[in-house]
Amino acid sequence: WSSTHFAWTKELEVNNKRIFGNRSFRPNQREIINATMSGNDVFVLMPTGGGKSLTYQLPALICNGVTLVVSPLVSLIQDQIMHLLQASISATYLSASMEWSQQQEILRELMSPTCTYKLLYVTPEKVAKSDALLRQLENLYSRGHLSRIVIDEAHCVSQWGHDFRPDYQHLGILKQKFPQTPVLALTATATASVKEDVVQVLGLANCIIFRQSFNRPNLRYLVQPKTKKCLEDIDNFIKENHPKECGIIYCLSRMDCEKVAEKLREYGHKASHYHGSMDPDDRACIQKQWSKDKISIICATVAFGMGINKPDVRFVIHHSLPKSIEGYHQECGRAGRDGQLSSCVLFYNYSDYIRLKHMVTQGVVEQGTSAPRGSLQEQALETHKENLLRMVSYCENDVDCRRLLQLIHFGEMFDPSCCAKTCDNCLKELRWIEKDVTNIARQLVDLVMMTKQTYSATHILEVYRGSVNQNVKKHRHDTLSLHGAGKNLAKGEAARILRHLVTEEILIEDVKKSENMYGSVTSVLKANHKKIGDLLSGKHDIVLKFPTP
Ligand code: ADP
Ligand code: ZN
Repeated sequence: WSSTHFAWTKELEVNNKRIFGNRSFRPNQREIINATMSGNDVFVLMPTGGGKSLTYQLPALICNGVTLVVSPLVSLIQDQIMHLLQASISATYLSASMEWSQQQEILRELMSPTCTYKLLYVTPEKVAKSDALLRQLENLYSRGHLSRIVIDEAHCVSQWGHDFRPDYQHLGILKQKFPQTPVLALTATATASVKEDVVQVLGLANCIIFRQSFNRPNLRYLVQPKTKKCLEDIDNFIKENHPKECGIIYCLSRMDCEKVAEKLREYGHKASHYHGSMDPDDRACIQKQWSKDKISIICATVAFGMGINKPDVRFVIHHSLPKSIEGYHQECGRAGRDGQLSSCVLFYNYSDYIRLKHMVTQGVVEQGTSAPRGSLQEQALETHKENLLRMVSYCENDVDCRRLLQLIHFGEMFDPSCCAKTCDNCLKELRWIEKDVTNIARQLVDLVMMTKQTYSATHILEVYRGSVNQNVKKHRHDTLSLHGAGKNLAKGEAARILRHLVTEEILIEDVKKSENMYGSVTSVLKANHKKIGDLLSGKHDIVLKFPTP
């Protein structure tokens, strides 16, 4: 797909420079554009900041007809349209919050033979609920004027993703009604199971998949202990590393946002808070001041984020524990979108975990989106707790490369020597020794089999270390012969070996989908029967590196 001999190549080059002001294409952009312009359905997995918008805006500009873009949030849409209009590209949107007469006018314009709109943005509920819109799209389609359908933030389709939106489930109707129109699905979050879900729900049976590494080489990652003087630490960090530069500080509660912002103002920073219970106008105002550099630091809950288009965010600081590795990766991804060096600092202490776990249980955590609140069912709760525990083990891991730990989560391999000391653990220059851990690996696999391949990695590790917590007792796993078999191992060793077994696909993390409407997921460890034989029979030894004190 990287060919420069397509009929549209010249036009692409010219418009990319002239209209979008880009000197060249970023990785995969040309390939994606060629694939979608050849009429294929395309699924794109690209980290935040990779440049997904260009892959449909440029084709929209040079194709006849209108490109339909489904995007989850009105604020995100408005931001996109503002950018398009600045580049003199005609675009509009429809949302349920608009006056009816205004909507009618836009729909009429779309019907007109002289319609100049190149892009029409809609929210998913519009597609799900507006017959008028579907009729108009049918009309466009029948005249050959519906050039492309774009599903932005496509992971929202999946109940397995961290940002499920029920209205996205209806989007399969688009492929059914408009089978000849190519669909382009874009996301920055996807594990294999999310991808499968998206492809199935949208009906993209033969789509071409582009998958880009989730590694963000220009971000450096640090985890720091959170103490009473956390705010001083934050102040020092910013003054030393990013004076007067722009950043986001993610806080757990609305009150924290306000307190942190106030303290930072006392320290002389231009900081402001942002959270879900503020007046929408105030929020919009703060976002605007921030994009114009009138405010340099935003202290926000996760409600602030999706669709932030500011390229020069130099730091993302987590004042408390993120809810999942996936969420953490995405929140950090808002830094350094221009490719310049940026910092991600996470302040961690165990009591934040307890507090967050309590909030999750009570269903009072502010979500980034419209996820159901106050109605978390038992399964969903288990998933949340599991996600949190993974976050805790990420924070407590003081030896392994942070990039490696994050990328494993997305099913990606990563060689830590490529980190080039851009994370706190790689900076430590630990000395490593090799150890044969075949026996321990066998015991872990045995434990997975003994418990019928129905438990999470966290649970298996707890049993192996000999924990007698409520969960272990409830399942009577304290009576297993291997309970406590790993109690003499150094901290993190068993986890390290288990992680290795997963990356080698000797064990597989399988997702267990539940039946409830919020479709929560828990992941359970299963044995890969093609591979465990060699380990158990002694054909395959496992030698791993461990840090020495
Ligand atoms: P994503 O949607 O993947 O998070 P965006 O489409 O918002 O990313 O692009 C991120 C930033 O990169 C934007 O500021 C955009 O203008 C810029 N960008 C995109 N493509 C290019 C390119 N080929 N050259 C330079 N800058 C680009
Ligand atoms: Zn590293």
